[in-house]
Amino acid sequence: MSHTSVQPQNITVLGATGSIGSSTLDVISQHPERYQVFALTAHTRISELHDLCVQYRPRFAVVADPTHAQRLQSDLHTLGVATVVLAGPQSLCDVAAHPEVDVVMAAIVGAAGLASAMAAVVAGKKILLANKEALVMSGALFMRAVHEHGAQLLPIDSEHNAIFQCLPCNYADGLAPVGVRRILLTASGGPFRNSSYAELEQVTPAQACAHPNWSMGQKISVDSATMMNKGLELIEACWLFDARPEQVEVVIHPQSVIHSLVDYVDGSVLAQLGNPDMRTPIAHAMAWPERITSGVAPLDLCALARMDFIAPDLQRFACLRLAIESAQAGGVAPIVLNAANEVAVAAFLNERIRFTHIPQLIEDVLSTDIPGRIDTLESIVAVDQHARRQANTWLQKQSITAGRRA
Ligand code: NAD
Ligand code: MG
Repeated sequence: MSHTSVQPQNITVLGATGSIGSSTLDVISQHPERYQVFALTAHTRISELHDLCVQYRPRFAVVADPTHAQRLQSDLHTLGVATVVLAGPQSLCDVAAHPEVDVVMAAIVGAAGLASAMAAVVAGKKILLANKEALVMSGALFMRAVHEHGAQLLPIDSEHNAIFQCLPCNYADGLAPVGVRRILLTASGGPFRNSSYAELEQVTPAQACAHPNWSMGQKISVDSATMMNKGLELIEACWLFDARPEQVEVVIHPQSVIHSLVDYVDGSVLAQLGNPDMRTPIAHAMAWPERITSGVAPLDLCALARMDFIAPDLQRFACLRLAIESAQAGGVAPIVLNAANEVAVAAFLNERIRFTHIPQLIEDVLSTDIPGRIDTLESIVAVDQHARRQANTWLQKQSITAGRRA
């Protein structure tokens, strides 16, 4: 069947101005006969969104602030661009669930992306999930909704996309029936893989955001530097592939060429390899079960020459330990972990706390025993808010102590 005769699919890109958003638009641009941009959303980067609207002519654009929306609307109108500009979190859900949308790329960062990702699921869309925090917070509810509403969930996170590619298509009833022993989740180890604790204490935001292999948004870059990213990904893998935390093993692989592996009971280990470029998992998920070009250069194994593998150090990278413990504890723990981490990372980026304070804040908030339920979106958001208040109290105490010391 030729694709030129088929209607292009309507795609909504949530978080269009981000790193994943722009890689997604790059892949879309390479296949205009297959995909058509239906809606683009941004938070504060209005002028970038303006340019994207001029280029892609979406039906809708969404921003956070109504005043920004009005200005963008009149600017686009002047240029003869017919895009309708909306504002606020409910509009994110509306453009994700719109009846004419076929595919939703969920690429907002953090808890802010949960409601719109869930809206796409409940509307039964094909959902390409980059926003791992959504799954960390609401895994049970999210996966149940995927099945109940017949949504198609495809992982964008490179590791999970790799695992998906290495699993047989009938893995939905569990890993044991298809002969899987373990999942091997690879991690680059981030920019401070070999740094001592004393060096970690002195890390600046600019150093933490300079990832050796991947160019990404600030929050995930800091998460990669603390290895919280791998912890969130372990929790994400448990939900996506119905695995227990002890079935997922983290392995440091500094070259980021093997994106993850699946270990079968007969001793076979399947891996997915590729250059570290998110356009590969994005193109894979967009076209699945077909394959399309992504613009990523072919892998040159001889230029790579070697691949290393090292066990992670859970003492220096306490965030990874805290995430594994939260995965094992279940219940509200992953929600609290994620919320405390978001507050801690923002405080680190604003130079309010040191890099090594990040796991300390999270561990203290996790130990406060936050009550709550995980069976509705509202109750999950309430736990998230409660944990953020605890984290902010921690920051206030910390700045008082630091003030006394100064
Ligand atoms: P980014 O910071 O580059 O972009 C984030 C996007 O979210 C922007 O478009 C921004 O406008 C939007 N946004 C931020 N706060 C918002 C809010 N409160 N309301 C609405 N929109 C908001 O981030 P990124 O690196 O593209 O990452 C996006 C998601 O994808 C994250 O969950 C990240 O963990 C995941 N991910 C990213 C990569 C990568 O290579 N960048 C890889 C794997 C997974
Ligand atoms: Mg990843």
